[in-house]
Amino acid sequence: MGNLSPQNQKTSAVAQLSFPEALTTVLSQAALSLQTSPPQQESLPLADSLGRVLAAPILADRDQPPIDRTTPDGYPVRAEDLNAAAPETQLRLIGQLRAGEAWPAYRGLLGAGEAVEIMTGAPLPAGANAVLMVEHAELDAFSSRLRPVVGRTLLPGANIVPRASEARLGDVLVAPGTRVGVAQIAVAASCGLSSLHVYRQPRVAILATGDELVEPTDSNTPIAPHQIFNSNSHSTAALLQLAGAIPLRLPTARDQRESLDSGIRTALHSDTSADLLLLSGGVSMGKFDLVEKVLSGLGAEFFFTGVRIRPGKPVVFGRIPAGTMPARYFFGLPGNPLSTMVTFALFVRPLLAALAGEQQAQPSFVMARLSQQIRHPAGLTRFLPAWLDRSSVIPAAGSTLAEPTVTPIPWQGSGDLAANARANAYIVVPEEESFLAAGSYVRILLLQL
Ligand code: AMP
Ligand code: MG
Repeated sequence: MGNLSPQNQKTSAVAQLSFPEALTTVLSQAALSLQTSPPQQESLPLADSLGRVLAAPILADRDQPPIDRTTPDGYPVRAEDLNAAAPETQLRLIGQLRAGEAWPAYRGLLGAGEAVEIMTGAPLPAGANAVLMVEHAELDAFSSRLRPVVGRTLLPGANIVPRASEARLGDVLVAPGTRVGVAQIAVAASCGLSSLHVYRQPRVAILATGDELVEPTDSNTPIAPHQIFNSNSHSTAALLQLAGAIPLRLPTARDQRESLDSGIRTALHSDTSADLLLLSGGVSMGKFDLVEKVLSGLGAEFFFTGVRIRPGKPVVFGRIPAGTMPARYFFGLPGNPLSTMVTFALFVRPLLAALAGEQQAQPSFVMARLSQQIRHPAGLTRFLPAWLDRSSVIPAAGSTLAEPTVTPIPWQGSGDLAANARANAYIVVPEEESFLAAGSYVRILLLQL
């Protein structure tokens, strides 16, 4: 993998990795980098930690549940009283326990033939070993007599969550490296925490390149036909935000060495203090695709300069070595808007996740049923904009189809942002396949919002 000489980039067979090889390269670089510079940590209020990666475990602050807990509203009883009961047997109601109340020690054990009225979440009185649900008993309020529904028996433990059955004091409830979502915030709060130790967000510089680019400004002044609005900086900033990183959008660089060199230096300058640099455009075979040359001039090491994927084939991954500033990884993302987004999902997101300490750093693929056949020449792993219909999980009347189906969206190639905006997934056509049959299961990459 090591250093590739700048002259043979793009043309060298070694430089063009398969998708799995390229992903492995990215993740092994992340692992190397973590050994020398682990991410910094901070403590944040619960709500602010949503989407961050946990830096310290969330431990059970006590046994969970801390008491034998009743699940329904009902009547704690001794199961044996019910099971031995003749059909006409009645239990004697001797008290009430609301959520938030404890059974007073002086009342001792629940006696034979006795029951207590209890609300969901309240602790069980000592001596009770099962809970008769409200729906399964009739209460004569006047005599406080309780008549179980005829034939109703209970096993000991019925409708009770025993103390410590969910977790014991000190158990790891959520491991470090987990992305903090709603469930993790709920666990933290349930353990009495109001803040969490998380890793700091990586700061990522975005440098779009191209003489044709104009910044969108809401102005009604039309731009020339040969100009285009810079969409990549904005889509990349949005992707970074979703990935839990801080996007730093730099002014667009021109397709000249000086402009690129100065843009890259600004990105790496201590004032910007970016942890990672993302360039868009300028990595194809064109005469003015100068990004790699300028990076080479800065002493960059290239780990790959092309991956056998479409869109996104010219993608470049490397590192600028430590000099006046610390070493920094960079990606040269191809400028075609869909190429930029696909290569972000395949390589940038996993690198960021790994550098941010997340355990699950791989891009996640799922399987779905293909609605129509697909043909493509083999030799590249292809990512085709598609619509995943999740509503098909509920079968239509008379239909047995109960699986998510995925349908390719007609598109005009990697510049077709409009088609991409109608997609919610990409169908993955593996490198060695040239035909995917209708009705077969295919791998798909889910798009972020
Ligand atoms: P490049 O990778 O520089 O050869 O660009 C490939 C294609 O993507 C060209 O059609 C560019 O005009 C377009 N492109 C490059 N950068 C951007 C950008 N920031 N926003 C939208 N389109 C871009
Ligand atoms: Mg360009």
